[in-house]
Amino acid sequence: MTEYVVTSAKALSEAKKREIIAHLGAKESEVTFLIDEALIGGLVISDGEKILDASVREKLRLARKNASSSLANQPLEHILSSLKEEFSHTDSIQKIKAGIVCSISDGVIFVEGLDDAKVGELLLVGEESLAMVMNLEEDAIGAILLTGLTEVCAGAPVRLTDRIVTVPVGEALVGRVVGPLGDPIDGAGRIETDSFRRAESPAPGIFERAKVAEPLCTGVKVVDAIVPIGKGQRELIIGDRQTGKTSLAIDAILSQKGQDVYCVYVAIGQKNSTIADVVKRLRESGAMEYTTVVSATASDSATLQYLAPYTATAMAEEMAYNGKDVLIVYDDLSKHAVAYRTISLLLRRPAGREAYPGDVFYIHSRLLERSAKLSERLGGGSLTALPIIETLGSDISAYIPTNVISITDGQIFLETELFHAGIRPAVNVGLSVSRVGGSAQPNAVRKVVKGLKLDLARYREMAVFTEFGADVDEETKAVLERGAKLTELLVQPQGSPYTMPEEVVEIALATGEKLSSIEKGKVRETLRKVVDHIRSAHPEILREIAETGELTEENARKIEASFEEATGE
Ligand code: ATP
Ligand code: MG
Repeated sequence: MTEYVVTSAKALSEAKKREIIAHLGAKESEVTFLIDEALIGGLVISDGEKILDASVREKLRLARKNASSSLANQPLEHILSSLKEEFSHTDSIQKIKAGIVCSISDGVIFVEGLDDAKVGELLLVGEESLAMVMNLEEDAIGAILLTGLTEVCAGAPVRLTDRIVTVPVGEALVGRVVGPLGDPIDGAGRIETDSFRRAESPAPGIFERAKVAEPLCTGVKVVDAIVPIGKGQRELIIGDRQTGKTSLAIDAILSQKGQDVYCVYVAIGQKNSTIADVVKRLRESGAMEYTTVVSATASDSATLQYLAPYTATAMAEEMAYNGKDVLIVYDDLSKHAVAYRTISLLLRRPAGREAYPGDVFYIHSRLLERSAKLSERLGGGSLTALPIIETLGSDISAYIPTNVISITDGQIFLETELFHAGIRPAVNVGLSVSRVGGSAQPNAVRKVVKGLKLDLARYREMAVFTEFGADVDEETKAVLERGAKLTELLVQPQGSPYTMPEEVVEIALATGEKLSSIEKGKVRETLRKVVDHIRSAHPEILREIAETGELTEENARKIEASFEEATGE
């Protein structure tokens, strides 16, 4: 005797029951009828061995599975249109399966009635808007709206999509200015690409990485000489407001011209005018040819500002995993932390130090860990990061600055006093370090910068003592004069990056004997003259240094001779 169990969403009529019994060819006593609302509609029949599932729940599951497998790597707009179609076929179901927005504030929504959402999953809110799940609570879920901030209102239906945020990536983005979700905002038309990448993806593991050993020259003398950066390194640029942080990072991008390095500049929480200015500077110097600008301005919602660095990293990663060298600038992560704090407070997460949530360290570490020099097996590309942090009153021991300092491989500390004293870039030589870049410095540079950092640090220390007009002995006087001249050497106007051989020539002369024969106040001018002379009369010296990365004894002698030729001394 076979026993059947027939489950339905609602109670069946007697006539329907008789029909089913007849269809099964069974006796009335052999069939049990059960009710399960979760089926939504349809029937499930089991005979103890097999189950025939003809329920609406199963149909919906299949539809979602099909859609998600074919759409796993599609951009948001594709996902949106396919979802709409999918749900239009399951008209009667959506009312039951959908959750409901029960509150909304500044792009953060709380949704009731969705039990099986996952963290990071995309939600379809209303007809058009997308949100990302952030919080899973017992009776509600918290999510952040990515699109349609002004349209969504309380009471709107919310559906699960089984997908996560993806952004367009690849060559099509080079030269473009895009929003936080990869949408073009430069008026240059659609971004035609078939490649998409998840905004958040895991950082490469230990065996997927290689040693940071190749230099990434920034064209800024003081950085390349004292805090050299290697490909795959994360070097923090930190300083108060208006100390030249952005300019330093932009100069690093400018000097990648012709170096086959792809650059991404992501602006977080800045003024539209500042970003327009940056784009103009990049465009005018031809740097947009290898750069993508991702912009989440101060007028964008906190949720988009929060997402922007992750999507920008996805764009950078795509190139790095294809074997290219990539430089990414995050300008700046202080504002990113503030955006995240806003979201967290709206999500009613507990506030910690300075009202930041406890995991603010984690959002930055999982972002910056994605920068790496990749192993040969993965194509040998690299992702170098220059995150920027703004401090208040030079306080580098505040919460967010200490966090990011401990995540990165070194910091370039810019100081207001130096900036106002005309020492620009205003790098504080004593507090700036590069923990891994030293081994990546080209031999030619390493050879000529020996002792430079020490001389400068000694000079700064003594300069403080002699500020009050104290009498000093001859030896101190010599240290002071030399220090002043070296400081002058490292002053560099923005937007004028040096090539590595030019840096070598200038620093070689400044750290050598010749410095004493240059008048104070004329160091830069004189050295510029020598470099110009070498470029026109002995270009082979520069070429050789560029090709080999070495400074031979012979070339060192030739440089000294050129100094005499150019200055007549
Ligand atoms: P904010 O805190 O507003 O983001 P910031 O620290 O990014 O500022 P920048 O915007 O880069 O600073 O520069 C501030 C000002 O200093 C700008 O007007 C810029 O032109 C000038 N400046 C920056 N670097 C140099 C330099 N090396 N030489 C001369 N002027 C410079
Ligand atoms: Mg700035």
